[in-house]
Order: sequence, then C-alpha cells, then structure tokens
Amino acid sequence: MEYECDVVVVGGGPAGSHTAMAVAKFSNQNLRVILVDRNPPGEFGKKTRRGWSCGDAVSKRSLDTVCNSLNISYSYPEIEHEVDGVLVYSPDHEVKVLFDGEGYMLNRKLWPQKQREYLERFGVEVLYQIDARTLLSENGRIVGVAGLRLSDQTPVRVRARVVVDASGSASVLRAHIPIDTLIEREIDKENDMEATGRYILDFERAGDDETWFDPRYCIIHLDQYLAPGGYCWVFPKGESKMNVGLGVQRKALERRNRAYGKEDTLVSLIDEYVRRNKAIRNARLAAGSQDSGNEYSTWQVPVRRQNDCMVANGFVIIGDAAWMPRPIDAGGMGPALYASVILGKVLVEAVESNDTSEDGLWKYNVDYVHAYGYQMASFEVLRRYLQTLPNEKIDFGMRYFLSQDDIESIKRREHPRFPRLSNLIRLLTDGELRSRIRQEPQLARNLKFTADKSRKLIKLYMEYPEMKGGFQDWVKRLRRELNEAYQRFS
Ligand SMILES: Cc1cc2nc3c(=O)[nH]c(=O)nc-3n(C[C@H](O)[C@H](O)[C@H](O)COP(=O)(O)OP(=O)(O)OC[C@H]3O[C@@H](n4cnc5c(N)ncnc54)[C@H](O)[C@@H]3O)c2cc1C
Repeated sequence: MEYECDVVVVGGGPAGSHTAMAVAKFSNQNLRVILVDRNPPGEFGKKTRRGWSCGDAVSKRSLDTVCNSLNISYSYPEIEHEVDGVLVYSPDHEVKVLFDGEGYMLNRKLWPQKQREYLERFGVEVLYQIDARTLLSENGRIVGVAGLRLSDQTPVRVRARVVVDASGSASVLRAHIPIDTLIEREIDKENDMEATGRYILDFERAGDDETWFDPRYCIIHLDQYLAPGGYCWVFPKGESKMNVGLGVQRKALERRNRAYGKEDTLVSLIDEYVRRNKAIRNARLAAGSQDSGNEYSTWQVPVRRQNDCMVANGFVIIGDAAWMPRPIDAGGMGPALYASVILGKVLVEAVESNDTSEDGLWKYNVDYVHAYGYQMASFEVLRRYLQTLPNEKIDFGMRYFLSQDDIESIKRREHPRFPRLSNLIRLLTDGELRSRIRQEPQLARNLKFTADKSRKLIKLYMEYPEMKGGFQDWVKRLRRELNEAYQRFS
C-alpha cells in the first residue's frame, strides 16, 4: 500500500492528533495530512496493550489554549471531572503547596474518540492499525515512513514532505533516524526516565482526611519511601472515583530496597500506597465501559528537558517522543498541546514555502523554547536535586525555606527562587531563618544553587540560536551548565 501526502503524523496520542488538526486548520485544509496509528478505531491513541496509561490531569489553561487555537471543544464524557488545583504535600502531610490552578480530569480512553470526530471534520485521513517501523530517506533527508498493516502484515509506505514523530516515549523512529541529525536519538534511561503506574478505582469514602482524598483537588504526595525518586498521586474523578498511582526512578528504588532490605516493585508500591489511603475503603477497579481495558496500567515517562533539537531534514518530533513532559511532575499533555499548535503553524509555513529542510523547520525549535521549553532544563536540575533528598529534608525545606514568593512562582509554573535564602537583608534581620539555615546548611546552599542555576539556564534558553549555525556552541554551553549540576547532585 502506498500513500503520498504533505505531512504524515505517526501516533494518535494528544500530540499527534492535535498536530494533525493544527496543520489542517492553519492550511485551510489545503495540505494533505495523513495520521498513522497502530490501534484500531475503537482504541485510538492507546499507549500500550494495558491501556491509555496516564494520571489523566491536564491544566485548564493548556486544554483551553489548544481548543481556542483550533476552534474545537471538549466536554463530558471525555472531561470526567473538574478540579480547583493541584496540591503537593510534604512527606509528613504537614505542609501543602498549591502547585497548579484549575484543571480537568480526562477520560483518556474516550478523549481520542472525540479527537477522531475532529480529525474527520478537519479532513485528516487516519490510517488505523499501521505500525510504523522505519523512516524512509533519500539524499540526506527523510521522505516518508514505512510500516506494516497489523491486520494482515501488508507493507505500507507513506511518502511525505515532512514526517512528524508523535509515537510516544518508546519511539523507534527517533531512535533510528537514518540521516545526519542534531536530534538526540536516545535518552539517559537510568537518570531521565520514570517508571510509572496507576489504577482507576471506585471506592467508598472512609473519612474526611483531605490529605488523602479531596474531590476538588488533585493531590501529589512527595514520599521517598513509597515513591523513591518520584511521587505518588491521588487524582479525583468524582466523589467516589480516583486515578491513583506513583512513579519511581528505577535506580532510586533499588537503593531504597537495599537500604530497607525490601524487594518492592513499582506494582507492590502502588498497592501499598492504595492500602495506606485513610480516606477510602472497598477500593475496586472502576466499573463501566468507559474504563474497561484501562483500569490498571504501567508505562514510562521521560523527565528531562525536551530534546535539544527537534527538527531534521523532512522530520520533526513532538510530545513524549521529544521528551516534552515537565521534568518536575511528568505532566506531558500540556506541553504536547502547546507544541502541537506551534508545530502546526511552522509545518504549514515550511510546506507552503517549499522548504522542509532542517533550516526551514528550525523555527519550531525556537518558538517552542520561547513559549514553553525555556524552563525545562532548570526543572530538570531541581528534579535531580529533589531525588537525592530523604523525606525529613523535604519536610524541613518545605516548612522553613519555601516562601509565599516561591509558591506564587510554582503556581505560575516557574522555578522557585528561594528569596529567603538569597536576600541578604532578610538573612541579617531574621534570626529564626538564620537558625534554620544553621540546622540544614547544605540543604539551604543546594536550594540556592538550584535557583541560581535556574536563572542561568533560563537566560541561556533565551539565547537559543535563531538558526542552526549557532546550535553546536549553544549546546556546549548548555551541557557545561547541566554537568556542573549533575556532578553536584550525583
Ligand atoms: C502513569 C502515567 C501518568 C501520567 N500522568 C499524567 C498526568 O496526569 N498529566 C499529564 O499531563 N501527563 C501525564 N503523563 C504523561 C502523558 O500521559 C504523556 O505525556 C502524553 O500521553 C504524551 O502524549 P503523546 O501523544 O506524545 O504520546 P502517547 O500518548 O504515548 O501516544 C502515542 C501514540 O502513538 C502510537 N504509536 C506508538 N508507536 C507507534 C508506531 N510505531 N506506529 C504507529 N503508532 C504508534 C501509540 O499507540 C499511541 O496511540 C503520565 C504518563 C504516565 C505513563
């Protein structure tokens, strides 16, 4: 089977579907767009055999932005529940911080079905049950993608002026790009990939302990015992339904198991976390067709900055395939949605001006970095530091070193500045703070280091090269800054 089009998108997750819609919309449907997904229509966007593995939480801001940009809308049943914000609790549950504002709890199984309706309306051709295996190349540029139709193993080739890789965190396309490219093919799995898993559960309320369940708030628990190198979450999907799970860094889990003489796995930790929840009883897998086949699943999330370069000749990456999830909370839907609008505009411009080379597509790198990506490296550094801290230090830091200013920064999705630790006048006049710093001098020094590093990294990202010529120098400077932090926190 052979197809020919302007843009072929591989992967029908949120990144791929919205990119395909964006290209159709911004070209007034003048470009031929094909989207290839390996699932059948009824399971569109399914990540793995076990389901649409996700915490299901997306900020109102990011979903509204993509809806307004593409003139689409989502409502019940794909939006299952609305929340007022995301609360992060210290390991001892004594300190809570509002981490993000209003948001939606999606049904990730039903959401893609609504996307299919929009894709059809936008004139995007969707090819189902096609497993994309290799990129086609000619004369140093990508010219299409080849794969197999899974129902009968028929070979399929789609030739295109640009291939968009939106095939998620295990992308085989990005890992085997057959031309010279500035895109990094592999992630540092040991440090930058989280193993995550979750249940969708129905339950009965067992009490009013709002630190364990609150229908108005998504709750994140920092806890290095239950989620070493990651965090646990209880996200409400109604008054008596939740998405509950956790993520771990594998090497931190091994270290924790050695320290406690345990043999816990991701799954045993999730089960223990559910057992400990004081607000629920009679927890059971969610009933009903809207969740069947998606009640329990595990998968991986990249938690580093986005790939330093996301374009090659005739090829771009987006979403988890580009390592876009925020390093601090692994939220990947927001970045993917913002990026899909940016990428859609750049692709239309590039195809219409007949330049889909690395140079012609470079603007996607620049626009994404300026709009969203500029903060990710600094969150990567903060995440690496937090992963080294035992529970008592996280409790102490949240109680004594986090200021209202920091909380406001966090709400704005910015790196906390820890002004309490760097304001000289404050330090001179606040005896209580000085005594806390004397109690935990290294913690104070390292938090200040992450804030200073954040400032430097953001400044560096503001100098992201406008053209690919300046990239090699820029990336050297970036790696120098990052290596200093990695060594300090290794
Ligand atoms: C347990 C867990 C909890 C999470 N919680 C949250 C959360 O609460 N909020 C949030 O914002 N983010 C969360 N994330 C991250 C979020 O789910 C991802 O960032 C998001 O799904 C990325 O979208 P995507 O379109 O890039 O990739 P995906 O959603 O992975 O979609 C990729 C699509 O491509 C298809 N595909 C893959 N390979 C091929 C191939 N070779 N050929 C054809 N098709 C292919 C897949 O089947 C799938 O349909 C979580 C992730 C996990 C694992």
